[in-house]
Amino acid sequence: MNKKIAVLILLMLVAFGLNAQKNSKQFRWVDNFTEVSARKEISIPDIMGYKTLKGDFHMHSIFSDGVVLPSERVNEAWREGLDVIALADHSTPQAKYILADYNTAYRQALPTAQRRGITLIKGIEYTRNEPMGHLNILFANDANSYATDEWDEDQALDHAKNEGAFVIYNHPGWPDKNSELDAFHLRNIEKKNIQAVEVFNGNEFYPVAIDYCNTYGLAPFSNTDIHAPIQASYDVAKKLRNLTLVFATENTEEAIKQALFAGRTLALCNNLLAGKKEFVSALVKASLVVSKLKMDEFSFSCDITNLSDIDFVFEGPDFRRFIMPAKRTIQLNELIADAEMVYQVSNTYIAADQHLEIPLFFVLNTANEVMMPFVPQNLNNIQAQTPITIHCLTDGAQVHYTLDGTTPDESSPLYASPLSVSSSAMLKIRAFKAGMQSSRVFQRQIVLSSVHQATKLKPSRNGMKYKYYEGALSTVAEIETNGKLVDEGIVEFPDLSVAKALDYFAIIYTSWLYVPASGVYTFTLESDDGAVLKLSNVELLNNDGSHSLKKVSNTIHLAKGYHPLELLYFDDYEDQQLQLSWAIPGTKNTVKIEPKYYFIP
Ligand SMILES: [Zn+2]
Ligand SMILES: [Zn+2]
Repeated sequence: MNKKIAVLILLMLVAFGLNAQKNSKQFRWVDNFTEVSARKEISIPDIMGYKTLKGDFHMHSIFSDGVVLPSERVNEAWREGLDVIALADHSTPQAKYILADYNTAYRQALPTAQRRGITLIKGIEYTRNEPMGHLNILFANDANSYATDEWDEDQALDHAKNEGAFVIYNHPGWPDKNSELDAFHLRNIEKKNIQAVEVFNGNEFYPVAIDYCNTYGLAPFSNTDIHAPIQASYDVAKKLRNLTLVFATENTEEAIKQALFAGRTLALCNNLLAGKKEFVSALVKASLVVSKLKMDEFSFSCDITNLSDIDFVFEGPDFRRFIMPAKRTIQLNELIADAEMVYQVSNTYIAADQHLEIPLFFVLNTANEVMMPFVPQNLNNIQAQTPITIHCLTDGAQVHYTLDGTTPDESSPLYASPLSVSSSAMLKIRAFKAGMQSSRVFQRQIVLSSVHQATKLKPSRNGMKYKYYEGALSTVAEIETNGKLVDEGIVEFPDLSVAKALDYFAIIYTSWLYVPASGVYTFTLESDDGAVLKLSNVELLNNDGSHSLKKVSNTIHLAKGYHPLELLYFDDYEDQQLQLSWAIPGTKNTVKIEPKYYFIP
């Protein structure tokens, strides 16, 4: 038999064998049915020269009120892509618990953790009634020492500090939904006996805990506090469980301990990312990678790839919104002015009621370029002497500014404390740092609020006059030139039901708006297609052009009384909508303007 024939026969035997196995009447596999034990890889980039480790430092096992074996907690964590965990069973002996040495859970889980490559941290949930509540003590030498009544709470925490343990204030808002710090916590935070706080525990969020992290230097945590099998509480195939992100030099117990004591963590829960601004901004920057950037004086285009498993949501003025979905690329083709606007990254929290605020240029910036400084606050219609705060995210950069329209250089005034102006001015800001390319220039017109006087009027009745036109238009400027006047009359509010055609029509509403009190009003115009609002003889809102539903808003200082109003609207094709809303001074709510405010002379 030559070699070729021998190989052929061998192949046939293998094929026959496989076939026999597949068609066996004795035994077969049911395909695509059970889950393969495989690890999910979570993608969250490294930052500031540290590795980003994914952790959960608060879990229960059968050795307190959990229902899962400690080693199975490790398997769950491995499958879900975690790098480091701590089991923290309650320190209170109860008849219904399996009573064992308090180090048992750690000992039982350790071999699995070593085999899986998960760093297992020693932990115990030191459990007392309010005001202390529950504290997680990590890296304790012997968990048993915290499960006795030998010490009072303060003594226990002094002991924890002496043995180098790390203490997290767990679920500060549980069970009374009040996350205020008690004298006990303040005292022990002051003594550096408590180093961290849970911002998220399962699906509970305690926003004020982020303020505690900023004020007292605590590390923010997001833990599951899982008692049941993980699948009973989380859809782990679709969502990430609570994660505490730890920025450590490597995945070892020692490096993690260093990172925790240095406060290098962020809390992640259902796409909400909370913690200190420096880490949040570094993670946003590292996640969003720009390529194919083209820029001229007026516009730019680029691809932005989000390398992380976190969706980032950018929300800017006039309801501009960019979503950068996890692990995907978006293409932008925008005006430079759009990149200069300040956006709230609304899925992040750097304080209880504050999102990360950045211009889009933060994302476009190259590594060697100083970040563009910016002013997040609205500078249109502000009172004289309002403090104007400038932000710059490049550490150690010097910010120079001008108010006379010239481009700032290093001889321009240096920004040291909030500015205030006594007249309207063009503010230009630029940041410099040795060895780096200077920043782009940020510019904003500062407009001091000037009151639009009301007109003396004795109105005859409520309502708006309207003129209804038909014709194919692409801007409100064409209504009177290209549209055909079909009908006119009176309506109660900007009502589209007077239209006779389904598409290709336009309406001009005129009225007097009654302003109930003097002050700065915010108007919002929502339309599909184009609309323009002229109020008190200024073009206040421009939402013109053929487009789907879109909102714009602007502020104006109005005196109490009657102001002329003209609202121009056209519908191109398909859907049509029009709504005019306002926020009355002193209120934050934007509401539709009620018919009682519209008048006809
Ligand atoms: Zn607890
Ligand atoms: Zn717990």
